[in-house]
Amino acid sequence: MTTTVTDYYQPGWRGQRHACPACDWQGDSRQMEMELHDEQSEYACPQCEFPLLVVLHPDLARVQAAAAAGNAEAQEQLAILASAPPPH
Ligand SMILES: [Zn+2]
Repeated sequence: MTTTVTDYYQPGWRGQRHACPACDWQGDSRQMEMELHDEQSEYACPQCEFPLLVVLHPDLARVQAAAAAGNAEAQEQLAILASAPPPH
């Protein structure tokens, strides 16, 4: 079964253990194969590529809200966005 994380800033999803229903592999997101898309990151089983975890990317409003709430990662991301050159 594929787990979808809709709130990127919810604590704990990176270290949560998942069991692959296809090959019985077990582990957390750090051990999975990550594929980055515009709207989401997908994490797949490193053994059989079964999609185990989908993390929806936060939009700017959510990043700003999380940063305002004191989330260090969101504050870092806002700083990166602020220093990025404007699109042409
Ligand atoms: Zn697997």
